Amino acid sequence: MISPLSYVTPTPSSPWGTYLAQIEAVEPHLGELARWIETLRRPKRSLVVDVPIELDDGRLAHFEGYRVQHNLARGPGKGGVRFHPDVNLEEVMALAAWMTVKSAALNLPYGGAKGGIRVDPKTLSMKELERLTRRYTSEIGIVIGPNHDIPAPDVNTNAQVMAWMMDTYSMNVGATTTGVVTGKPVPLGGSRGRVKATGRGVFVVGRETARHLGMEISGARVAIQGFGNVGSAAAEMFAAAGAKVIAVQDHAGTVFAGDGLDVAALAAHVRATGSVADFARAEPLGREEFWALPCEFLVPAALEGQLNPARAAQVRARVVLEGANGPTTPEADAILAERGILVVPDVMANAGGVTVSYFEWVQNFSSFFWTEEEINARLDHIMAGAFQQVWETHERMRLPLRTAAFVLACTRVLQAHADRGLYP
Ligand code: NAD
Repeated sequence: MISPLSYVTPTPSSPWGTYLAQIEAVEPHLGELARWIETLRRPKRSLVVDVPIELDDGRLAHFEGYRVQHNLARGPGKGGVRFHPDVNLEEVMALAAWMTVKSAALNLPYGGAKGGIRVDPKTLSMKELERLTRRYTSEIGIVIGPNHDIPAPDVNTNAQVMAWMMDTYSMNVGATTTGVVTGKPVPLGGSRGRVKATGRGVFVVGRETARHLGMEISGARVAIQGFGNVGSAAAEMFAAAGAKVIAVQDHAGTVFAGDGLDVAALAAHVRATGSVADFARAEPLGREEFWALPCEFLVPAALEGQLNPARAAQVRARVVLEGANGPTTPEADAILAERGILVVPDVMANAGGVTVSYFEWVQNFSSFFWTEEEINARLDHIMAGAFQQVWETHERMRLPLRTAAFVLACTRVLQAHADRGLYP
């Protein structure tokens, strides 16, 4: 895959390469709007910043930070901030592009953006993490704002990090500006239901998929990779609906229980020890064995590129429900399709977080807050409705669900370009 951009060199299975392959698949289905497609292959704006901080021992350290606004045709940028040692410009570009597609697939009035810092936050103290977050926020302050681009949590960032970002931005502009980030603590203008929203959305989309396939959720076997924000909440919702969460894998181990894991006890174990490894009420399982477990739902909810061709050849799930962003490489996608395994794409399955982020932003503008019941009901309504449209497109055009979601989303984005016209 050759990128027309000089500043990244993607490979077919790297995040930007994966995204470009997805755009290529959608191009033949866009009719006259295909005229505008090149815009989707070029992020609108990519900012790389140096983030220097003083460490607790007095030394100086420098980190690389990013904020990419992939497309702003339908509204301000929206997308998380990731703190991870592997973060790089190419990854942030792909994550920003998937946010463009996700916002449009859900018909939310946003473009797509993403940010991150190349850092292992586990090596920093809380004070160092706060200084890093505040300096990064100041550095990207020239492009973010409630009407410009609204960051949110992603891997290794949480409500506390969002509170520091909100405070830093507010100090710099001289007014408390709650709407600059979402995923804040509830007393600081955060939304009820936001913490579990992505996992809840994964469940809602799984439930709707099961309905279309004539499958029961009750008794369905679910295997989940990643037991962080997304994976643990999805596990909780599936278990509450009577499904059996038979296996969970995280960075340190894999645990299995054929009759279903006690999800609440596993969550307590992870809070206490930092990982699912050594959970007493389950059997340990090999890393690769996890992918070959017979189950109804396989939920990759950790990082991108986890479902590679070798693993795809082993999968014995009926449905792959993508909780993570970009967990399936294009080659693996093709293998799963050939083997008749339905893949429900990330841009639908994990859109619960951005949907409740949208609710949070709306509540911040109106300073009027909704109950958790209202939030959850609206989340369910929006996600089930969007999934129905994707499913109808998938059936009508005989396309994989991913391409169907991209057709719907890219049509909306490119129609916005066509209607707005090219400036000047
Ligand atoms: P998190 O940091 O809370 O959890 C990540 C989980 O993945 C942890 O359990 C970690 O142990 C596990 N993990 C990391 N490396 C792994 C490896 N090599 N093998 C197995 N497990 C590994 O992150 P999160 O917020 O739950 O995000 C997970 C994924 O979901 C990411 O792709 C993220 O972009 C996506 N996502 C998150 C949100 C959100 O609201 N948090 C929204 C949409 C998409």
